[in-house]
Amino acid sequence: MSRDHSLPELANYIDGAFSTPAIDRERSLHDANTDKPIQGRRNSNREQIQAALTTTDRIYQAGTWEDTPAEERAEHLEAMAVELSSAEYAETISIADSLTSGAIVRTTRKMAQMLPFVFRGAAAYLREGHLDKQVPGPRGSVDYLRRPWGPALLIAPWNGPTAIGSHKVASALAAGAPCILKPSEFTPHSAIMMARAADRAGLPKGVFQLTLGDRSVGAQLVEDPRIKAVSFTGGLAGGRAIARACADDFVPTQLELGGNNQLVVFADADLDLAATGIVYGMTNLNGQWCRALGRLLVHESVKDRLLDKVMSQLANIHIGHSLDEESDMGPLVHRGHFEQVQSDIERLRSCGGEMLTATPLPQLEGNFIAPTLIDGCRPEDTREEIFGPVATIHTFRDDSEALALANGTDLGLAGYVYSENEEKAFAFARKMRTGGVKINGYSLLSIGEGTPRGAWGLSGLGEEGHGQSIEFFTGARVVGLSPQ
Ligand code: NAD
Repeated sequence: MSRDHSLPELANYIDGAFSTPAIDRERSLHDANTDKPIQGRRNSNREQIQAALTTTDRIYQAGTWEDTPAEERAEHLEAMAVELSSAEYAETISIADSLTSGAIVRTTRKMAQMLPFVFRGAAAYLREGHLDKQVPGPRGSVDYLRRPWGPALLIAPWNGPTAIGSHKVASALAAGAPCILKPSEFTPHSAIMMARAADRAGLPKGVFQLTLGDRSVGAQLVEDPRIKAVSFTGGLAGGRAIARACADDFVPTQLELGGNNQLVVFADADLDLAATGIVYGMTNLNGQWCRALGRLLVHESVKDRLLDKVMSQLANIHIGHSLDEESDMGPLVHRGHFEQVQSDIERLRSCGGEMLTATPLPQLEGNFIAPTLIDGCRPEDTREEIFGPVATIHTFRDDSEALALANGTDLGLAGYVYSENEEKAFAFARKMRTGGVKINGYSLLSIGEGTPRGAWGLSGLGEEGHGQSIEFFTGARVVGLSPQ
């Protein structure tokens, strides 16, 4: 694929109109492959932020979107899905996401192609009647309605920006909440394309708005009393700041934060399968995904054999330009993040860690780091998330030692267990303090139909999922006759 592309122009979408945010004179968007600037960054100013807030509040107070019948809201979501099905969106979004985030084009294309399904899924949920129900009461039926808390603020990160941003937007709109999306300052393009789709699909003006900018823009929006629910995906520091800002007024927050994800390999595991899982966990999205492998916990009797298999698979991983179809891995998102991951590696090395790596790096100037396993660190030195293709190795002798290691971090987002004895694997997995555990496999797919993507401890608050994400934006309103 050619490497010269023009990116969509950076624009806000406020009250149904596109406008240009102020240029950030100090910072640019960089191509992660070359670390060269490719577009000026833009930050919404105070007036633009206020205009979006005034609009969202106006729509909520008028009740126009909330009172739009569920079937009609579903039709609007369908119209978005139809518009987003046009090939123009997937191609433009995947190229922009690959250049700015470093994720390989095969992955970003799949994510962009999912956009229509995200909006269609939200429409289907509405049509199933989950939000407006009649339930039996003491005198006739009772209304059990789920109504939006009010205007919703949606804050997305740079990793998986298309999937995460669209899921939040479709969920808020389905819930009847007018919403403002603040995408990551590093990956704003899929949000802009979604705004174009909303405009072309005839979504009512102001129901979905977009304000570009960095965390200071996010913070101004979070602190405004007109915002009545915040769905945030990002790091722990941002999550904490948002939880604090929302505490006084009890604004519901959904916090999807980082993970330090444990993969446990028992002595009876299929080691080829486990090796494939480990490599996927370290290389998918270049190791920059919330459910990436953090710590590999392996029974001491199979460690050497397992590592041989992992190393021979890693030797075949092709790291290259994120737009090359044959690349299995691309660069990290930006120079600052690259330096952070390098310093995380250095810290572990200085704690006595031995680096194991087998994947050749390309001759490119960008932010490339080979997938790296680090052996020999004490578990207490490896409790934090390293947001890159880096995992540590720890051995155990028995199940109780394995469980103590597996539960030895507060960032229990996802877990993985490999054993040929499924009964034993289930019993062990049920005791892991994480939002979800997969047995004998590692993938992006959710675990079960209708199950949430939960989080445990400092990895977040609230559950995301098909219905769960929509219901987050709503509260219960129950109306019925008194029993007497
Ligand atoms: P980040 O916290 O730096 O930024 C995320 C978003 O929040 C950006 O849009 C940013 O501008 C905004 N932001 C940051 N601080 C803010 C504040 N105080 N007030 C308002 N807005 C603020 O995170 P990132 O570096 O973009 O993303 C990486 C992190 O996200 C990793 O820790 C990763 O594990 C996590 N993540 C979690 C999930 C999940 O589902 N749990 C999914 C993807 C990413």
